[in-house]
Amino acid sequence: MSNYNADVIVVGAGPAGSTAAYFLARAGVDVLLVEKNHFPRDKACGDSVAPGAVEVLERMGLLDWVEQQGYVRQTGLFLSSPNLTSVRIFPTRTARLPAYLIPRLELDERLAQQAVSAGARLLEGTLVERLARMGPNEVRLFARRAGQMLELTCRLVLAADGPHQSFTRSLGMVFSPPDAVAVRRYYEGVEGEPGLLELHWEKSVLPAYGFIFHMGNGRANVGTGMFARDFHRLKPNLHELLDRFANNNPYARKSLQNARPLGRATGMPFRDDAERIHPVADNVLLVGEAAGVGHPMSGEGIGSAMRSAELAAQTALDALQQGDVSARGLSDYARRFHAEFDAWHQSALLARSLLTYPSAVNMAIRAAARRHEVATLLHDILLGLVSPAEMLKPGVALQVLLAGTVL
Ligand SMILES: Cc1cc2nc3c(=O)[nH]c(=O)nc-3n(C[C@H](O)[C@H](O)[C@H](O)COP(=O)(O)OP(=O)(O)OC[C@H]3O[C@@H](n4cnc5c(N)ncnc54)[C@H](O)[C@@H]3O)c2cc1C
Repeated sequence: MSNYNADVIVVGAGPAGSTAAYFLARAGVDVLLVEKNHFPRDKACGDSVAPGAVEVLERMGLLDWVEQQGYVRQTGLFLSSPNLTSVRIFPTRTARLPAYLIPRLELDERLAQQAVSAGARLLEGTLVERLARMGPNEVRLFARRAGQMLELTCRLVLAADGPHQSFTRSLGMVFSPPDAVAVRRYYEGVEGEPGLLELHWEKSVLPAYGFIFHMGNGRANVGTGMFARDFHRLKPNLHELLDRFANNNPYARKSLQNARPLGRATGMPFRDDAERIHPVADNVLLVGEAAGVGHPMSGEGIGSAMRSAELAAQTALDALQQGDVSARGLSDYARRFHAEFDAWHQSALLARSLLTYPSAVNMAIRAAARRHEVATLLHDILLGLVSPAEMLKPGVALQVLLAGTVL
């Protein structure tokens, strides 16, 4: 016997899941949003909400909330390279909306509430474990809540369970492990400009970068990352990984000289292999980082998770109206998904592989310090406003080479 019924069940109430549930519920679909944790719940993240994410927040009617809460607007970037060349870049005019810093503890709870305000039902503390197809129009999910088994029935499932994805894995739709692991910790008493994003390509953490995102009132979110293959080989604990950046980088040492850590360092895998994933199966769509939409170069993933959710919700609506939730009826999502993410991902992967060479990072940051156009382009790429392919175009690459070479 089924405990819950809905037309659509969304598994995971992160930015992807709540966004999808919101757009479906707003269109009148009966949606159940299932989350294994209870809100408010934290998520390891830098809390940078880039303009692309803010655009989706606007479409969800949440821009006033962002402003009323007084979340810090981003004031630009401070970048440094392994040879300690640095550049300060102010926000460009490319984005229509500003970027913000919003703690995930608050953002994710508000997104889930917005889905509920639109009519979605939210089931917290419920871990979805596996799926069984009962017929072309019926799927049963088996879940666990407070030690009890639950059965949930629907026509269509949106898997938005993020990069850990034990549920998505059980569907057999994602094969490779996540590409990277990232870690972060909050500090108080940090020196620096509220709203500034510091990114340091510190030698000891290359090809990842270390970040210090100034949240205001002396608080900062400090983090770094590592590729999964190195992580599994070296097995650093998360504190060591963070300390490697915080203790070795002179800019970090200066910002954090009087700072105190707030709580523990927390880490999460990071998935950015969207171009290799087929996000559609009979009765199922994969959404957000479960489908590998993280930005391979910047590590940004909130905006792309929300964007993939919007695309999935549009396809789901059409398929429900047509009465065909087979892989064929849902195939438009795969087309839109790959049109949205593949080209960006491929060029970002190429740019990222160049950035494993300290000399290439030194050159790019020196060029940005010398040429305003290069600085603007780097800013827009890192904030997800422009494809990294722009930096790889022969004319631009030549400009970086000329301006970035020491003379
Ligand atoms: C250290 C670090 C720093 C980062 N910094 C930034 C940044 O500054 N800006 C940015 O844009 N991105 C950043 N990212 C990436 C960003 O956090 C993710 O891309 C984003 O959270 C993806 O959203 P999502 O909704 O797809 O998945 P998630 O946010 O992971 O949400 C998945 C949800 O599903 C739930 N869930 C999982 N399994 C189940 C299940 N079986 N049943 C029920 N519920 C389940 C989880 O509890 C969670 O609530 C960072 C990542 C890391 C690790």
